Amino acid sequence: MRVTFGVATDIGRARERNEDSYLAQEPLFAVADGMGGHRAGDVASALALQTLQDIAASGDWDGLVDQVRKANRVVFDRSTGDRSLSGMGTTLTAALIGDSAVRLVHVGDSRAYLVRDGELRMLTEDHTLVQRMVREGKISAEEAGNHPQRSILTRALGVEEDVPVDEVSVEPRSGDRILLCTDGLTGMMRDASIAEILQNTPDPQEAAEKLVNAANRAGGLDNITVLILDFSDARRAPGEDGDAARATRTVAGTAPAGAAVPSAEERSTPAPRSGEDTVAIQAVEDRAPSDRGAGPPRRRGIRILVWLLAVVAAVGLAFLGIRLYVNSQWYVGVDEGNVAIFKGIPAEPLGISLHHVVERTELSAQDAQQLASWRRLPDGINADSEERARSIVEQIRDDLADAGGEGGPVQAPEPEATGETATPETGTPEPEGTG
Ligand code: MN
Repeated sequence: MRVTFGVATDIGRARERNEDSYLAQEPLFAVADGMGGHRAGDVASALALQTLQDIAASGDWDGLVDQVRKANRVVFDRSTGDRSLSGMGTTLTAALIGDSAVRLVHVGDSRAYLVRDGELRMLTEDHTLVQRMVREGKISAEEAGNHPQRSILTRALGVEEDVPVDEVSVEPRSGDRILLCTDGLTGMMRDASIAEILQNTPDPQEAAEKLVNAANRAGGLDNITVLILDFSDARRAPGEDGDAARATRTVAGTAPAGAAVPSAEERSTPAPRSGEDTVAIQAVEDRAPSDRGAGPPRRRGIRILVWLLAVVAAVGLAFLGIRLYVNSQWYVGVDEGNVAIFKGIPAEPLGISLHHVVERTELSAQDAQQLASWRRLPDGINADSEERARSIVEQIRDDLADAGGEGGPVQAPEPEATGETATPETGTPEPEGTG
């Protein structure tokens, strides 16, 4: 079976760095979403994929799961050996295309979907606290999608010495499409919107770019990475080697420069929304006629002035909009080594701080990060209100107390069963034991 692929990655609209990485080297494809303070997230995701890539040289495809566990160990060792990288981790969702089956391996909250007959079916299950609550029947799948703690992982690569790895196998048919993506896509878009774009865009590269653009239009609050694999019976035309060429250009790396992706600087320039733009220009032009009456020779200069005013007003309105949005947001993060409640969003585009500390607690951020559930604390845990933020802090306090408090850092227990498999027959993961 012939495979063509498309891939796109983007920093998004709120983050300072792209900590996602991808690997596209036939027959191995993968996405990884790194996390940790400073540059640790980039290192974790790139390191995991580099280690996974080593399997290509060995050709030992049966050792795929072992290779993922090796990648876990490599990231873990690096993290414990280098203080600046302490606590880093990454998700990993990979597809290995064999003669008759595609084997998927998965840790974390990146996802793999199968698109068959126009239907989107999730192949992986998120290793998140929220997904566990869904499985235990504590919250509904609906609620999970909007839950402020939905990005808290129960499993990640590089966090502990060993990690359970999920495995799923799919027999591809001609016309099938497999989507690998990080939560920057699925956190911003509903499955139905993703399915629609995939359905209406036959070219995999174009589809990958459209999905990234759509996630950015929906807010782009996280890094976004999309990898699309198309399966067809069609034989490769003689001499045609397009994919192979693209693969070697885009081998594992963080936001590779080879991809058709705008640079971080381009991306972080705040783009005024078109609606606000129009309003601002109208507002200025309403006042313009009295100036225009001053005489024909000055008209050109006045027009330029009006334009400048319009641009200034548009930029001002855009900033006002961003300010209003930012001031309505809350999150829990780290301030001077302690768990703290922030107002705003955890980002500093163009070096402008979009947050301030409301309250710094006595809880040690480092202790909290040692717990698998609070691994992403340095990235900021979103809360939609002050009340939510305070309840997250309470939960951290409880978890720290449960973990033993007085001792040093204690690892959280890993209550999840190993070797789970998602069934390709169901669209979204269903709680076990129901319907
Ligand atoms: Mn992410």
